[in-house]
Amino acid sequence: MTHVITQACCGDAACVFACPVNAIQPNPDDELFESAEMLYIDPKTCVDCGACVTLIRLNPPNKPLRVAIVGSGPAGLYAADELLKQDGVEVAVYDRLSVPYGLVRSGVAPDHQMTKAVDKLFRDIEDLPGFHYALGVDVGTSVHHEELAARYSAVIYATGASQDRVLQVPGADLPGVSSATRFVAWYNGHPDHGDAHVDLSHRRVVIVGNGNVAIDAARILTTDPDALARTDIADHALAALRQSKVEEVVVLGRRGPEHAAFTLPELVGLMARRDLEVVVAGDIPPAPEWADVQLRHKLDLLRSLPTEHQAAPSSRRIVLQFWSSPHRFVGQDQVEEVEIRSAGPGSPPGGTSDHLPAGLVLSSIGYQGSPIASLPFDPDRGVVPHVRGRVEGLPGAYVVGWIKRGPRGFIGTNKTCARETVNSVLEDATSGVLEPVSPAGDLGQLLRQWHPDSVDLPAWRRIDDAEIAHGLSAGRPRVKLTSAI
Ligand code: NAP
Repeated sequence: MTHVITQACCGDAACVFACPVNAIQPNPDDELFESAEMLYIDPKTCVDCGACVTLIRLNPPNKPLRVAIVGSGPAGLYAADELLKQDGVEVAVYDRLSVPYGLVRSGVAPDHQMTKAVDKLFRDIEDLPGFHYALGVDVGTSVHHEELAARYSAVIYATGASQDRVLQVPGADLPGVSSATRFVAWYNGHPDHGDAHVDLSHRRVVIVGNGNVAIDAARILTTDPDALARTDIADHALAALRQSKVEEVVVLGRRGPEHAAFTLPELVGLMARRDLEVVVAGDIPPAPEWADVQLRHKLDLLRSLPTEHQAAPSSRRIVLQFWSSPHRFVGQDQVEEVEIRSAGPGSPPGGTSDHLPAGLVLSSIGYQGSPIASLPFDPDRGVVPHVRGRVEGLPGAYVVGWIKRGPRGFIGTNKTCARETVNSVLEDATSGVLEPVSPAGDLGQLLRQWHPDSVDLPAWRRIDDAEIAHGLSAGRPRVKLTSAI
C-alpha cells in the first residue's frame, strides 16, 4: 500500500533520505523543494517498504502541547510514541495500577515470551524526551476528567476492555463457573486477582467460546508446570497448577469450525506441542466456497487431528468441540456438570443433548469495555462513540485501542489505531481547537505535586529491575510482584 502525505509536513527531509527508491518528491536537490508546502509519494516508484513512515512528522503543533493518556497498555504507549515524534509535545501516562503495559503484562500468556518482548519497544518509548508516568492513579476516582481537561491540552483514553461479557446460561452463578479473563488475570499476577480461588481439583474443565483467549487458557491448564516454571507466570498460579488434577479441557464453539475464532498461528502453536494432545470432537466438513487461504489451512489442520483420545492415559489433552453450547450448568453447591446442546451437520432435528462432568467452567466469550465517567458510552458495543478517535460531543477528549474500536485485533493493531487518534489530536492542535497548556512549569514536578503517591518512571524502573533480577536468579524472565505495588 503506497502511503499518501495528507498534511503539511515538518520539512526536515528525514523521510526523503530514508526512502531507498527516491519516491518522495520534490527532494532537497530540487529547486521546488524550498517552496513546496507538501511533499508527495510517487505511487509508481514507491516499493512500500515503510522506511519513510517511521520518520514522517506532521506539522508540529504551533504551541506546546501537553497530553494526558489514561491507560499504559499497548494502545496508550503507541499513542505516546506517535505524539512524542512531534516537537513541543509532552505526555503523562496515567494508570490505575502501579505497573504499566496493560494486557502485555496481564493478558499475554506467560508461555508467549516472544510476544511479551514488545516491552523492549515500550522501554524505548518511555525513554523519549517528554515522557512521564503517573502510575497508581485511578482516573475517575482520585482525579476526574474535568481536572485533567483543565491541566492538559488533550486527554486520550486508552482504558481497554477489562470486563468480560456475561454468559446468560442457567447455573452461571454456581461456584466453579468463572471467566477466562479472570483466569488469565490470575495466572498473570494481576493484583486484583491474586487471591482468587481457582478450583483445579477435578479432571475436566469446560471453556465456552473458542477465541485465542480460550486457547491460551486451555493451553496453560494443560502445560507441564515445570515448563511454566521457566516463564513469568505468577507464583500463586504455578503453585496451584502443580497440584492440578485437570487432565482434559473441552473448548466449546457454538458455530462450526469454519467460524472458529482462534487464529491459524494459535492452532499451529498448539499442535506443535509434544506434551499435550489436541483432539477434535466430530468431523471437519470441507472448506466453504468463501474460505480464504488461511481458513482452508486451518480446516486442513483440524481435519488432520485425531477424533479420539489416542495418547497415553497420563497425557493431558484439549478437545475442540464445535456446534455446541452450554444449555445449563448443574450442581448443588458447586458446578458438577455442563448440559451441552449440539446441532451440527447430520444432527437430528433439534440437535443432541449431552451431560459433561466438569469442576470448572470458564466462559471466554470476549471482553467488554466499561463506561468512563464524563464520557459518552455505547453499552451495546462497549465502546466510547468517536469520530477518528475524537470523543463525540467532548472536544479535547480522545480514545484509542479497545475502548475505541472494541476488543479485536493484536498488539500491533493498536499502532495504526493510535496513529489515527494522534493525527486527530494534532489536527485539533494546529486548528486551535485545543486549549493552551495550563499551568506552565516542569511536568515532572507538577505530577509529583498533583499525585504525590504516584509511581513515576524511575520508580517503575526500580520495580522492573527488581522483578528481572529476582527472575534471573531463578532462571526466569522475571518474577512478578503481584501485591503491595
Ligand atoms: P473473540 O476472538 O472475540 O472470541 C470470542 C468467542 O466467544 C467466539 O468463539 C464467539 O463465538 C464466542 N461467543 C461469543 N458470545 C457467545 C455466547 N453468547 N455463547 C457462546 N459463545 C459465544 O474473543 P477473545 O478470545 O476474548 O479475544 C479477544 C481478542 O484478543 C481477539 O482479537 C484475539 O485474537 C486477541 N487475542 C490474541 C491472542 C494471540 O494472538 N495469541 C491471544 C489472546 C487474545 P462466535 O464467533 O460464534 O460469536
